[in-house]
Amino acid sequence: MADVVFILGAGASRQGGAPLMSDFLDVADNLWRTNQVREKADFFKSVFEAIGRMQAVHSKAQLDLKNIESVFNAFVMARILNKFPGDTDFSGEAVEDALKQLIAATLQKTLLFPVQHGNIIAPKPYPGFASLLDYLRREAHPQRSVAVLTFNYDLGADYALYANRLGPDYCLDGAVSEGVPLLKLHGSMNWGVCSKCSEVVPWGLNAFFKTFSYRHLSDSETAQLDVWSQFEHLTHCDAKVAPLPFLVPPTWNKSDQQETIRVVWQRAAKELTDAEHIFIIGYSLPETDAFFRTLYALGVVGGMPLKRIWVYNPDRSDNVEKRFRQLIGPGAEARFRYIATPFNDAISDIKREFPARR
Ligand SMILES: [Zn+2]
Repeated sequence: MADVVFILGAGASRQGGAPLMSDFLDVADNLWRTNQVREKADFFKSVFEAIGRMQAVHSKAQLDLKNIESVFNAFVMARILNKFPGDTDFSGEAVEDALKQLIAATLQKTLLFPVQHGNIIAPKPYPGFASLLDYLRREAHPQRSVAVLTFNYDLGADYALYANRLGPDYCLDGAVSEGVPLLKLHGSMNWGVCSKCSEVVPWGLNAFFKTFSYRHLSDSETAQLDVWSQFEHLTHCDAKVAPLPFLVPPTWNKSDQQETIRVVWQRAAKELTDAEHIFIIGYSLPETDAFFRTLYALGVVGGMPLKRIWVYNPDRSDNVEKRFRQLIGPGAEARFRYIATPFNDAISDIKREFPARR
């Protein structure tokens, strides 16, 4: 288990161009209206129609239909309860699948990968983040083991780790790997689902780039890392995987297919238990996020004595800081710091805390 654990939220991909959870639907709506997602337009349309229907019914209820996470939760609940406002023949499953298409297409369009000397590089500041992880593992004194927990579906961190020969190791099976554990708690755009055995099938970037190349792009261009668009070439049980990425809504919901991602969650809780240093970057701990609160409580309580839990977030209104202070409680207060800076500044700041070997 790692002694330095990083937790990344949507804010970590902000500099690279990805939307936050709160403006995700606005960005998606704009892509759709300006015809930038032509091949996925029907999916976008059915998501916005479904939101419209929910709005009509739930105008009095406390349902934040502007936030992609609460919409995802609402769609899943509607499917499970078999109750969707409006049409009786409305398929909750179809609209949930459409939402996954919308999420993946929006991230693919917005988080762009610059091209340098015929190779794509990870969006900023992920290359610097991967260098930091490499530094902690090899040059810091003492050398540190690291793990990354992320709520993000996108491939920014994945690609940076891959390009730095740091894995990543998704820890979906029990196999031991040299790579940095990248625990994608809400799934990933390069994970498929086997259409026969329903297992989650990660398409590691190492394997992906053996078949696909972006070398035709010139240096002034940017690339969309469109792994899931190639899912027809990914097989399991001698069959193509389903044409949708494995994305999990941010709720605890045992009755759902989330069982399949349980190993990742268990590993994440264990990493939190054993961590000495926790750095939380670009995650603002929404009031409604019971998932993280529970994971934190189960993971950290009773584990290794924490030396640090630092939160990096550009929010200066102190709302985010307050929420974290409440979560952490008086016990860990002495080790808690809130630093109101974005991800790229956090990288150099953290590096200074771990001196190099002489
Ligand atoms: Zn299978």
